[in-house]
This record gives sequence, structure tokens and C-alpha cells, in this order.
Amino acid sequence: MSTLFVVATPIGNLNDISTRALETLRGADLIACEDTRHSIKLFNHFGIQKPLESYHDFNESEKAEELAARITRGLKVALISDAGTPAISDPGFRLVRICREKGIRVIAIPGPSAAIVALSASGLPSDEFLFAGFLPVKTSGRREKLESLRTVTATLILYESPHRIVESLKDILQVLGDREVCIGRELTKLHEEYLFGPLSSVVDKVRPVGEFVIVIAGGKGERHVDPVVLEGLSRKDVLKLLAEKTGIPRNKLYDILLK
Ligand code: SAM
Repeated sequence: MSTLFVVATPIGNLNDISTRALETLRGADLIACEDTRHSIKLFNHFGIQKPLESYHDFNESEKAEELAARITRGLKVALISDAGTPAISDPGFRLVRICREKGIRVIAIPGPSAAIVALSASGLPSDEFLFAGFLPVKTSGRREKLESLRTVTATLILYESPHRIVESLKDILQVLGDREVCIGRELTKLHEEYLFGPLSSVVDKVRPVGEFVIVIAGGKGERHVDPVVLEGLSRKDVLKLLAEKTGIPRNKLYDILLK
């Protein structure tokens, strides 16, 4: 059966590749990757020789159609990205989508993803989380995006580059407030580091070098509601009104009220 394999690769430490990932790459006819010069290092390390073809953000739509057609004709294609899990803030979504639409089987070979690595080691609640990828580059867009995340009660996960980490953390502090954070830097690599605590206490300690994941405690879901408006209402009506105003489900609000 025609199959696309979506293979996760390490985010730093090459020992994090799985046995199944290696087997799949060895069994593939073609590897679709982002930067062939980057991926060749991984392949050389594991002694795998396979044709590599670049599959970038800029050629994704065109290339996806072409790859899907070749998979249908029987070519075994494995999709990887420069690091981590393809399609997670990386190219891949379009190819997977087209394969699904054409009835091609898609199998993911799981492995590292920086967001999950950071979350699992963050010490912040992980029962509910929202991965928001990279914040917009421009200050106005970034603040707007953060504003839209302000009332989210789930733990937030963001990716950031060394060029913007300081600016972004300052904007997070300003828009989301002094929340507890865990900032993961260079995860699984030699200089891996985590900074944990209220954002105001760690912001000046961040060395803007390497790759970052920012894990942020969720909001309390508080929005101002004039107490006068609530006066005289039944508990049920208070919950209904607050749920409308804040977007928080009634059962959650009930728990908050009880506390
Ligand atoms: N697909 C990848 C994944 O599954 O994690 C993410 C690719 S995205 C283009 C690259 C971003 O992921 C980096 O800018 C950084 O925010 C984060 N990242 C990747 N590797 C990392 C690492 N070793 N330590 C910290 N952050 C990392």
C-alpha cells in the first residue's frame, strides 16, 4: 500500500533517534527533507545512503503534489525536517494533507519535538496546553497575538529564536503579566539549560544564544466584570454571565468560585 512515512529526528542529541526511525529511513527509496546539506550530516552519522530531495516552505505546494504522485506509483518516501517532528512549525502539513486527500496511508514515526521535551521538563501543568508556535516578528503583531492568548487557562508553549528571545520575553511580561515560566534553551544539547520561576526573575538571566522553548503558566481566566452587575443575581445566572464574559466553561468557573 502506498505510504508516506513522517519521521521525527533528533533536536540536538543524535542518540535520540529511534530504532524504528532508522529502520524506516533505511527502507525508504527517497528522503524528503528541508535542507539536504543539513540532513546529510545525520545520514552520514548513521551510515545511511539515500537520495535526499529538498522540500521547503517555498516549494511545498508544488513539491507535495509531485511527491504524492510518486508515492502513488510505489515510491517509498520518508519525510523529515531539519530537526524534531515534521509539520510541527516545520514543512510537512501540505504533503500530509494531500496524501490524506488522495487516500495514501500516512504513518508517523514518533520522536522528539522541542515543545513536548520542554513541557515535560517544565514543572508547569501539562494536563492542558496550547502550542502557539512562533510569535509574530513585528512588535505590534506579537503583542496582538499575546493579547489573544491572555485569557487562555491552559499552559502555553512558544518557540523563539535567539534574535528575538529578549524582546519577546519583555512583551510576554508586559501583556501576560509576571507568570511562572520555564525557558528551555539548547534542549538535549551540550549546553542545555532551563530557567524556571516568575518571568520577572528570569528575564535578565537569559543568554540569547541557541534555540528556545518558552513554557508559560496559563492565565487565571480573569477578566474584569463590574461587581455591581453581579449583585442580586442567582449563582446560576452569575456563572452564566461570567462564562459569557470570560469564555471559561461554567464548571471551571464553579471550581474557581468555590476556591
Ligand atoms: N519541528 C521541530 C520540533 O518538532 O520541535 C521544530 C522546528 S522549528 C522551525 C525550530 C524551533 O524549535 C527553534 O527555533 C526553537 O524554538 C525550537 N527548538 C528546536 N530544537 C530545539 C532545542 N534543541 N532546544 C530548544 N528549542 C528548540
